[in-house]
Amino acid sequence: MKNQDFKEKIVNWYHLNKRDLPWRDTDNPYFIWLSEIILQQTRVDQGLDYYNKFIFRYPEIKLLAEANEEEILKLWQGLGYYSRARNLHFASKQIINEFNGEFPDKYEDILKLKGIGPYSAAAIASIAFNLPYPVIDGNVLRVISRIFGVKNAVDSSEGRDEIYKILNIIIDKNNPGTFNQAIMELGALVCKPQNPLCTECVFLNECFAYNNKSIDILPIKSKVVKQRNRFFYYLFIKNNKDNFTFVYLNKRKEKDIWKNLYDFPLIETELELSFTDNDVFKAIGKYLGTNDFTLNSISKQYKHKLSHQTINAYFIEIDLNSSEDNKALENYLYINIYDIYNYPIPKLIENYLNDR
Ligand code: SF4
Repeated sequence: MKNQDFKEKIVNWYHLNKRDLPWRDTDNPYFIWLSEIILQQTRVDQGLDYYNKFIFRYPEIKLLAEANEEEILKLWQGLGYYSRARNLHFASKQIINEFNGEFPDKYEDILKLKGIGPYSAAAIASIAFNLPYPVIDGNVLRVISRIFGVKNAVDSSEGRDEIYKILNIIIDKNNPGTFNQAIMELGALVCKPQNPLCTECVFLNECFAYNNKSIDILPIKSKVVKQRNRFFYYLFIKNNKDNFTFVYLNKRKEKDIWKNLYDFPLIETELELSFTDNDVFKAIGKYLGTNDFTLNSISKQYKHKLSHQTINAYFIEIDLNSSEDNKALENYLYINIYDIYNYPIPKLIENYLNDR
């Protein structure tokens, strides 16, 4: 297939079939950046709402830079991978302080912004500034490796180099942003990971994978992502005072998931604890330094899957019987239960609260 044919086919297909999305109607680099960050690891239908909320609340970079982190995390709540929101905030300050408030228009400068790697930098540079940098995301890796029959694993540097070389040759240098978006869109709508819609595809005749019955094999991957299992036993400790219910809340600070979000006092184990053998009761007693509590209820198990780990969580409602302050809890926030929703909390906690 000639390069010209590839370019024309993919771009024509894109113009006829692309989804109508708000970040495609703008050349504002701030909005394009926001959409790129939101759409990392997130489906378009889920990300759309968040994109609209963010540009409504922070229509300019300056307003995002001036916001406090907790407010940004609250707005991001439910989208997951919260480091994206923290980095977005950090990078907005970089733009104000290091680039005089103007979004940088050179690839190398875009790459200096926190949270922006080569993929996002290429996407922003090509879409907002028409610079000829090919984008390589999961959709692009799949489409190119299937059409061109890439035999190297796409998660190896050889595989990525091979795909990068192909893209550098076929990219539409006059219109790189549209070209990049067109390949990503083909991957999202037609050349899907499972059951691609080959009979509707404009590359049916030329596609290596289709013509060699290797759709299920391509793209080749060498690494198996190891999943870590973690068991969370959340203590939902209630105290009734003057007709109000108070609970303890923890601000997560460690270098771990959900940094700077809020959850409950937590007992974490690598192996599941037995409820029948009293293991959980003993673990709570050890955690609180007392057995003077009443265990009211244990929730169902909540499974929360992340890219490299699965959280298996239980919420254990307990009442502390002792009237004395418990030392194990002295560093937690102590809040009226209705105020929980003012804090940024992980989706897992939100699901539990909604089920109560
Ligand atoms: S023919 Fe099928 S496998 Fe090949 S690019 Fe199109 S959708 Fe993907």
